[in-house]
Amino acid sequence: MKSIGQNLLQLKSSIPEEVSLVAVSKFQPESSIWEAYRSGQRAFGESKVQEMTLKYEHLPKDIEWHMIGHLQRNKVKYIAPFVHLIHSVDSFRLLEEIQKQAQKHHRTIDCLLQLHIAQEETKFGFSEAELWELLHNETITSWENIRLCGLMTMASFTDDSTLVRQEFSHAERLFQEIQHTFPHLPFHTLSMGMTGDYPLAIECGSTMIRIGSKIFGTRVSITY
Ligand SMILES: *Cc1c(COP(=O)(O)O)cnc(C)c1O
Repeated sequence: MKSIGQNLLQLKSSIPEEVSLVAVSKFQPESSIWEAYRSGQRAFGESKVQEMTLKYEHLPKDIEWHMIGHLQRNKVKYIAPFVHLIHSVDSFRLLEEIQKQAQKHHRTIDCLLQLHIAQEETKFGFSEAELWELLHNETITSWENIRLCGLMTMASFTDDSTLVRQEFSHAERLFQEIQHTFPHLPFHTLSMGMTGDYPLAIECGSTMIRIGSKIFGTRVSITY
């Protein structure tokens, strides 16, 4: 079996330089994050607030913590002091809470709006219509402690690469439409692609991929 460092190196050399890599360390022990850190990785993705907060406390402070899992409003306060990018914004009220907490901590928090395109019922996120409605809402322009930086999406979990390509292309088209409609927004990040589908996501214009198992191996369950 290859080491985490070797996996990272191999992955990095196989993707374009302009695509950023978030190493998804959810459910992985801190020792594994250290290994990735020592080979130069700084961006890590977590899906649970408590796990991310504990890891933040224990690990080097130059790590960028990315929240990629569903985020409850009452937990925003725990990550607001340090989170680097929230990929999983899926409601107006969540955004409102992020603004409130960011202001409290004198920070500006970068956010991605999660777009729901997959077939699965269970995936969180805005529909296309809901996204436009949110972006046209005047209230958000008064929120000075939030930066809307782009979209995050997950494709259907399937071997049907035609469907996955369709979904990623749809997200990319919408991403560009939003850039053109709201040129004042710093809308530069399209977060899409995981272990099973990142080559396709990159072909379809992804600027940020979120990779777990390909770097760390199968997730072991640890309790935080
Ligand atoms: C777990 C997870 C990933 C990484 O998944 P892998 O298949 O292990 O690469 C990426 N994005 C989100 C939102 C996740 O929850």
